[in-house]
Amino acid sequence: MNTKYLINAIYRATEGEGVHIGAPQVFVRFQGCNIGCINCDSMDTWDFSGEEISLEEVWQRVLEESYGGKIKRVSITGGDPLHPKHEKQVLELSKFLKEKGWFVNVEAAGVRLVDSIFDIIDYISFDFKTPSTGVKTRVENLVRLNQQYKNKFQIKAVIADERDFKATLDAYNQVLAQSDTMDFPWVLTPCYEPNEEFPMERFQNIQNLNESYGGMFRVIGQQHKWVYGPDKKEV
Ligand code: SF4
Repeated sequence: MNTKYLINAIYRATEGEGVHIGAPQVFVRFQGCNIGCINCDSMDTWDFSGEEISLEEVWQRVLEESYGGKIKRVSITGGDPLHPKHEKQVLELSKFLKEKGWFVNVEAAGVRLVDSIFDIIDYISFDFKTPSTGVKTRVENLVRLNQQYKNKFQIKAVIADERDFKATLDAYNQVLAQSDTMDFPWVLTPCYEPNEEFPMERFQNIQNLNESYGGMFRVIGQQHKWVYGPDKKEV
């Protein structure tokens, strides 16, 4: 109970992307990430320094944000919540919330599988890093997710252009070739940069590409960015 949690923010919001879009939840955002995506929209979460609080304080703030526990749903995000510096805390917090019967999702940055955490949470939102991020996700990780965590994960890929789409399609085909079944959702998130006008043409192009290749992906935008604007944090 003395472990310190390096936290960027704890806030309530309606999920703005991926298959849980529209679900109200409390986000526990860990501070610290060394993955270095070129198009990261939360670079303020990179430094491994800032507010350190206890599990009891995290819980109190989750309770406040959830209207005293009315919303029993938490998404653990970052930064990189699966960085080795956060692993112990994320495991402890996940166990704590699961013992209370809450739904727990972890936003995984696409570079690490942490079985001790994945085994006990309800859902894994796993990034596939596309070329525009400048980071690579190993296809073996996606194959292993599919083998071990059926029905409890999605793969999300931020798509800036056709090259990103083709890289995701290539990963899709590689996972398909190495798996008995593949019925989890692959979600394409059209890139919507801070300070940018709503990129209607990019959305349309990505939808058209997906349709032309048979529509194996779900194209889901970042709803919070058009509700609050692309720059607003903690929404
Ligand atoms: S993993 Fe997330 S927080 Fe880290 S650099 Fe990439 S987008 Fe930013």
